Amino acid sequence: MNTNDTPDGPATAEPDAQGAAAPQRRPIRELPDELISQIAAGEVVERPASVVRELVDNALDAGARQITLRLLAGGVRRISVEDDGQGIVRDELALAFKRHATSKIGSLHDLEGVTTMGFRGEALAAIHSIADCSILSRAQGQSQAYLLLGRSGELRPEARNPGTTVEVNELFFSTPARRKFLKSDATELAHCVEAVRRHALARPDVGFAIWHEGKLLEQWRRCSNHATALDGIDPDTGEITNTALEQRLHDVLGADFLANSLRVNYSGPNGLHVSGRVGLPGAARARADQQFAYVNGRFVRDKVISHGARSAYEDVLHGHRQPVYALHLSIDPTRVDVNVHPTKIEVRFRDSREVHQAVHHAVDNALAPPRALDAANMANSTTAVTAVAPAPDTGPSTGLPAHARQTPLQYAHASPSVGHRVSDLAALWQPAPVTPNAATPTTPTTPTTPTTPTTPGDANTDAAAPHGPLGHALAQLHGVYILAENTQGLVLVDMHAAHERIVYERLKQQLTSASRPATDNTIPAHAAAATQLQRQTLLIPMTFPATDQEIATCEAQSGALAALGLELSTIGPKTLAVRTVPALLAQGDVVALARSVLEELGQQDSSSVIQRAQHDLLATMACHGAVRANRRLSLEEMNALLRQMEHTERSDQCNHGRPTWRQLSLRELDALFLRGR
Ligand code: ADP
Ligand code: MG
Repeated sequence: MNTNDTPDGPATAEPDAQGAAAPQRRPIRELPDELISQIAAGEVVERPASVVRELVDNALDAGARQITLRLLAGGVRRISVEDDGQGIVRDELALAFKRHATSKIGSLHDLEGVTTMGFRGEALAAIHSIADCSILSRAQGQSQAYLLLGRSGELRPEARNPGTTVEVNELFFSTPARRKFLKSDATELAHCVEAVRRHALARPDVGFAIWHEGKLLEQWRRCSNHATALDGIDPDTGEITNTALEQRLHDVLGADFLANSLRVNYSGPNGLHVSGRVGLPGAARARADQQFAYVNGRFVRDKVISHGARSAYEDVLHGHRQPVYALHLSIDPTRVDVNVHPTKIEVRFRDSREVHQAVHHAVDNALAPPRALDAANMANSTTAVTAVAPAPDTGPSTGLPAHARQTPLQYAHASPSVGHRVSDLAALWQPAPVTPNAATPTTPTTPTTPTTPTTPGDANTDAAAPHGPLGHALAQLHGVYILAENTQGLVLVDMHAAHERIVYERLKQQLTSASRPATDNTIPAHAAAATQLQRQTLLIPMTFPATDQEIATCEAQSGALAALGLELSTIGPKTLAVRTVPALLAQGDVVALARSVLEELGQQDSSSVIQRAQHDLLATMACHGAVRANRRLSLEEMNALLRQMEHTERSDQCNHGRPTWRQLSLRELDALFLRGR
C-alpha cells in the first residue's frame, strides 16, 4: 500500500508545510532539586535490591561489624538496614539526604584513590526522592540517638545503641510508573538476598542477618576463628585471610561449593593479587549464577575478569557450561577507576590486559595440576608425592613437562616411577604401522629427571613397586576402561579420553613453547623463530584421493598446515600427498589426520587461524592421535598411561570437559555390598 492510498496521507504533510507541528520553544530552566534526585534515582535505584546494596555499602563504610536487614513484601513495602557502625552526629543527619553530600571524599585526589564503597554522595538523596525514608542514628561516643524523618524533616531524640538504622518505606510511591516494573515480591526478595550475599562473600569479618516479614531468612555469623578484634584479617597485611573467605563461602554457598572448588592464590605485576576459589570443571552450571568477582572488596560485573576466568576453562569445559567462582582482586586503587557507573558495579582498569592475564593465570594455575596428586596427598599414602621448591626456570627449550615450568604450584614425584613414563607415546597408538620412517619419533617432552634404569617392564612385574597416585593397572574393561588399584580403592579410567588429553597437552605445549616471543632471551634465536609443531618427514609420502574442496584448502592454507607440522602437496588433479606429519602423531593414521585437519581449516577463513582455532585443530589432531577403543593395551601400556595422567596438566578432563577418571573408594565399594567395616 502506498501513501496515496491512505486517506490522511496528504493531511500529514500539511502541518509540516505550515510549521504548525513544530515544537514550541521553551525557556531553559534549572531543574528543581527533587527532580534532579528523581532522575538520578532512575540510574541508581532499579529495584529494592539496589536500595539494599546502597544501604549495606554505607553500613560497611561506617565500619559495621553486624548488619541486619529487615524486609516487608520483598522490600517494596519496607527495607530497613541496621548497623553498629560509627553513626552520624545530629547536625549532619539532614545532610545525609542531600545530593552530593558525602563524608568519604573531599577532593579529586581522594576520588582517584577511593577505598570506600560509596563516594558519590547521591544514594540516600536518590532513595529519599522516591520513597519515604528515615534515619535513626547514634554516633559512637554520643549518648543520644536521633531520628530524622525524611518527608517532614522532623528531627527528634530517640533511644538506640551506637550505629545507624536507615528505613525505606514504599519504594517508588511517588513514581508509580517505576513501580509497575517491579516483579513479584518473591522475585524482589530473591534479588535483595542476592545483593547481601554479594557483600557477605567479600566480608567474612562482618556478620549479616536477613529477615523477611518477621522471619529470619539467612544468618551469616562473622568469622571468629581467633577471639581478637582482627577476626579473619591478616594482622600483617590488613587483608582478609583466605581461611576467613572460605569459611564464609561455606556458610553462604554451601559445603558443596567448597568441596568442588580449588584455592586461587596468585600475585601478578604492580601489586595485583588474585585470591578466592574456582570451581572444578565438573561443578560448572547451566547458568552463570555463581560467578562472584570482586575488585578491592567491591562486587563487580566485569568483562575483563569474567573473560580472563573463562579463558582458563577454555579446554576443560564445554562452551555452554558456566564455571563457578569467587575471585577477589586486590589492586592498587589508582590503577582502577570505580567511578564509571552510578551503581559502581562496573569498573575500568588502567591496564586491562594485565588484569586479564593475571586472572587467567590465577585460575589456570589452580585448575591445571592433575587432581590425582591431591587425592594421593589426602590419602597420605606411600606414593611419594612431594611438593618441591620451584624449579629454576630452565626455559622452554629444555622440554620439561609443562607443569614443571609454568605452574608456580610445583609438584613432582620423588619416586622412581617418574622414570617409567610411557616407553614412548608411540607404544599407545595403533599396532606399529608400517610407516617407513627413518628415525624413531623424537619425544621432545621427555622429562629431564635423572632417569633410573627402571623400565616400564620392571615397574609392572612388581605390583608392590611404588606407583603413582592413580595406582597400578589391573585390567582393561570392554576395550574402553582401565581398571587400576590405588591406596584408596579402585580407579576407573576412560582410556581414550585420558590419552586424548595427554596428546593434546603435548601438542599445545610444543606450539606455545615454539611461539614464545623472541624478546624472551632465554630462548635461542632458532627456537624462537620456529612457530611450528615438531614435524617428521615421511620417507614415502602417503597419497590419497582428495576432493576439490580439500585441494583448495590445502593450497590456501599451506601456512596454517605448516604450523601444525603438516606438509601436503598436490600431486595430481585429484590427489594429495602427505609429506610431513607432527612428530607426536607420526604413528597414527596420517591420511585420516590430514583429512580432518583439512576439513576444519576449510571452515575457517585464513586470517582467523588464531590461537583459539589452533587449539581446536590441536584437539582434532589429538583425538586422532589418542588410543582408540577396543585397542588391547598391555598392563605396561596401561601403567604408562596412568603415570602420564599424573604428570599432565588438566588430565582430569578430556578436551570436551568430561572426566577422564573416577575414584571408587573402598568405602564406596563396601557400601555397594552393604559391608560394614
Ligand atoms: P556516599 O555513600 O556516596 O557518601 P550516601 O548518599 O550513600 O553517599 O550517604 C551519604 C553520607 O551519609 C555518607 O557519606 C555517610 O557519611 C552518611 N551515612 C550514610 N549511611 C550511613 C551509615 N549507615 N552509617 C554512618 N554514616 C552513614
Ligand atoms: Mg553510599
